[in-house]
Amino acid sequence: PAGDKAGMQQADDLHTGEDSRSRKITSDLPLALNENQFFLVYQPKLDLRDGHYNVEALIRWNHPELGIISPGEFIPIAEETNQIQNIGNWVIHQVCNDLVILKTYIPDLIAAVNISPLQLKDNEFIHKLQNALTDHQLSPASIELEITESALLDMQMAKEQFQLLHKNGFRVVLDDFGTSYSSLSHLKVLSVQKIKIDKSFIMNMDFNQKDQQIAQMMVRLAKNLDLEVTAEGVEKPEHLQMLKKMGCTEIQGFYLSKPLPLEELMGFFKESKTNL
Ligand code: C2E
Ligand code: MG
Ligand code: MG
Ligand code: MG
Repeated sequence: PAGDKAGMQQADDLHTGEDSRSRKITSDLPLALNENQFFLVYQPKLDLRDGHYNVEALIRWNHPELGIISPGEFIPIAEETNQIQNIGNWVIHQVCNDLVILKTYIPDLIAAVNISPLQLKDNEFIHKLQNALTDHQLSPASIELEITESALLDMQMAKEQFQLLHKNGFRVVLDDFGTSYSSLSHLKVLSVQKIKIDKSFIMNMDFNQKDQQIAQMMVRLAKNLDLEVTAEGVEKPEHLQMLKKMGCTEIQGFYLSKPLPLEELMGFFKESKTNL
């Protein structure tokens, strides 16, 4: 009884702790942009066809008290509270800035950028994107737009926006592919150039026969539809070997590199060049 009470008190404290963290995140998020607390890290992706690298931009929030907060924690809040458009615009501008620097090393480098479906809803989205690119003398070919497929709710809107983006030279990627209830319908309806197999199918592939079969099926499907296919969550050399055999076009994961700040990314590229 006395012990039980202590246990319950502890559980209560834990709950309050979690709540106060998410309350703090919610109340501090509106300040983060002006306070310059966001930064981008870049994870290298390897093209298995010719061995060249591209990157994916991933946002981080350096909170003054809580430290580094992952996008999984604050992007959903940004979406719920109408802040994703401003944050998304910041990401696009920052990626363009960084691309100008990176392209002095690797001229044909492509940066993948994660886009929330709420950004697509904005009719000005494509113009903002085009303006950011022309401001930096970049073409649509230097970026790739990743949209998480399970976040796509309005299919008609997505269909129209994907078509418009495609018509204007942008490449669209279905991210976390295979995790939505309507993955196959997405492929049927939406104009996309690439699918990115969700890491949940990849990272246990070395011992899970089911995952291996499903990944194989997705790679084949992509090939038959003339799409490129990236596997994320490549953590072991065995994963790389299996995906190579399957004919996967690109891999990404901790086995290659974790996401890196810009300076470290340049170091990674310099080293990988001398290792070739
Ligand atoms: P995502 O686009 O699917 O990004 C891949 C996530 O997997 C990243 O998490 C990355 O750090 C992690 N990852 C990479 N390699 C491995 C691996 O080998 N094993 C495992 N277990 N994980 C790996 P991160 O950076 O925490 O991002 C989480 C999600 O947040 C992203 O998933 C994306 O949906 C979203 N996100 C990130 N940056 C942005 C952004 O700028 N805008 C928007 N709207 N969403 C973003
Ligand atoms: Mg992504
Ligand atoms: Mg993903
Ligand atoms: Mg995701």
